[in-house]
Amino acid sequence: MKLHNLKDEQQIVDYATAVRTGLGNNQGLFFPEKIPSLPNIDALLAMPTAERNFHILKPFVQENIADDVLRDIIAKTFAFESPLHQVNDNTFCLELFHGPTLAFKDFGARFMANCLQHFADNNKITILTATSGDTGAAVAHAFHGLKNIDVVILFPEGKISELQQKMFTTLSDNIKTVAVKGDFDACQKLVKQSFDDTELVNQVGLNSANSINVSRLFAQVCYYFDAMAQLSVTQRERAVIAVPSGNFGNLCAGIIAKTMGLPIKRFIASTNLNDTVPRYLKDGVWAPNATVETLSNAMDVSKPNNWPRIEYLIESGQFDRTQLSGLAVDETQTAETLKSLHKQSYISEPHAAVAYQGLQDSLSTDEVGIFLGTAHPAKFKATVEDILRIDLPLPEAIAACAEKPDLSHSIEADFAILRRFLTD
Ligand SMILES: *Cc1c(COP(=O)(O)O)cnc(C)c1O
Repeated sequence: MKLHNLKDEQQIVDYATAVRTGLGNNQGLFFPEKIPSLPNIDALLAMPTAERNFHILKPFVQENIADDVLRDIIAKTFAFESPLHQVNDNTFCLELFHGPTLAFKDFGARFMANCLQHFADNNKITILTATSGDTGAAVAHAFHGLKNIDVVILFPEGKISELQQKMFTTLSDNIKTVAVKGDFDACQKLVKQSFDDTELVNQVGLNSANSINVSRLFAQVCYYFDAMAQLSVTQRERAVIAVPSGNFGNLCAGIIAKTMGLPIKRFIASTNLNDTVPRYLKDGVWAPNATVETLSNAMDVSKPNNWPRIEYLIESGQFDRTQLSGLAVDETQTAETLKSLHKQSYISEPHAAVAYQGLQDSLSTDEVGIFLGTAHPAKFKATVEDILRIDLPLPEAIAACAEKPDLSHSIEADFAILRRFLTD
């Protein structure tokens, strides 16, 4: 399948090129012109997960990846479960945090790393990515130790939890981490400036691994099918999925799944106070405010970089805009929702709580709600303990890296300084 640059209709590339280059001309995003539809969804949902994932991913990558290689990549990527946990009569949490860094970004990062490794051909590659939280850890772990691939991760200094930070700043070898004096949007701007610098791109083999890279989206499509496979047949047609959204990659993957034929009834885009999209869905005006810090800090994004892909699916008539609504949840409500989940014997965290609130807000009695659990509660230990007044034990993966020294560098939000760092 060919991928089109959404900002330059002349640029049409294959999957391998899209994965290797990340962003297209004019900083355009790569995306399929037409999402393939899958025959016989019921049969697909009855298959073992690995086999199902093979059929979902094959149409996107078959031009560049042989079947046996794809099966191998799938085995390496999807090496953990995404269970559907029932919270009450008509609500489930799809737990996407059972991977090595306890967050859903493990899926996209590992699929991308494995594809890139396959496409690398012994050329040196530098992965440059900005993270507002979990991308960093997922990318660092997915690429750690891979040959010929260096990873540089930018993050906003002092804006993410210490534990979250330690999950990617304590690895050595091919993983380098940079604390930028600025917010996440400043980090994203540095990444974009780097990709605009053709000389730099060629010199270090620059590649992005954040949610801009289309490979990540394709991997995430798979767990929407997995969620529906865990519902009963009668529940499936009534399923509403609430997605806690920041850069809107996760929601985009869900919409791709629906476009492929998965019978999701509708979606809710739940955000924190960084509510550009919910406001846009209401009044049609795209008016990002300054980014504000919230309890759900991995969603502190006011200019979501995946939105143009969703917009494209709407404008090209592949996705019906009326099947998407938005809700912005404020800080008090997020805390209250977390407590309400706790009363139902479910310990969650602020991002998933924002999504759950989206269901509370609009789920009708004949619908079944699924909210995406994007991170393990222990990744936001201090916040969760503070709000719920409980003691939360650290899972081993986190406990181990909390003990290690932080190896990150610190720089001003200045492209010239970053450029020097990358070419050193
Ligand atoms: C990244 C992240 C999100 C937001 O996902 P997007 O695909 O950027 O919308 C939500 N929750 C957590 C825990 C995250 O790390």
